[in-house]
Amino acid sequence: MRKKIAAGNWKMNTTVEEGLKLASEVIHMAQDELITDVSVIMAVPFTHLVAVKKLIGSSSNVLLAAQNCHQAASGAFTGEISAEMLKAIGVNCVILGHSERREYYKESFTLLEEKLQAVLQNEMTPIFCCGEKLDVRQSNGQFDLVKEQLAASLFSLSPEDFSKLIIAYEPVWAIGTGVNASDDQAQEMHHFIRKVISQKYGSGIANEVSVLYGGSVKASNAKDLFSCADVDGGLIGGASLDSRGFVDIAKSF
Ligand code: PEP
Repeated sequence: MRKKIAAGNWKMNTTVEEGLKLASEVIHMAQDELITDVSVIMAVPFTHLVAVKKLIGSSSNVLLAAQNCHQAASGAFTGEISAEMLKAIGVNCVILGHSERREYYKESFTLLEEKLQAVLQNEMTPIFCCGEKLDVRQSNGQFDLVKEQLAASLFSLSPEDFSKLIIAYEPVWAIGTGVNASDDQAQEMHHFIRKVISQKYGSGIANEVSVLYGGSVKASNAKDLFSCADVDGGLIGGASLDSRGFVDIAKSF
């Protein structure tokens, strides 16, 4: 079901002690200040997951996410974490296909497809990221690329599984740069994403899937971005490391 979501991606930031302080502030502010139909997601480092889960407890509007997982259920993959392990500690969502993983760890369309299956089989929600680099936008190739990213990794899913996804459109040129996509650019791409989904799965599913915008979202631009018809919220990097700023973003619907 289409939901209003503010998802924070902490990336490789904070010690456990710092992270618990941040998470605890977010949880309390979210409980006290958020309207009921907004969900907050915190995608924290692996080392923090168990402790943050305890803090979240039974809080109804705060969910826990991991930032990645391995595609296999178990085995000789030194240093990796499986979807099954994440499920077992109560993780709700897993970010997949973030541009930093595509770029630095060469995650391919096929690998992401396998990771998606692992996450879905373990009854967690994938937050699937897509988006173009600056040179692609400058040559107006963003629509073809995003369509390819969606089709190649997601379109083997059954309609039932597809409807469980959260999609995040994150233009790479807007991530961590302070330069966000304009409201028109975000709305244009989100509308396009729904059109592509509709062609494959039908308008019912296309209108029900939550599509987040990511890339330099902050409290000062969130209201305008979130008021775009096809934008259901944000995936927030840098600004999610400040509890007050992050919850203010979540209050921007
Ligand atoms: C991100 O990395 O997903 C992101 C959107 O980062 P930032 O908000 O810092 O641009």
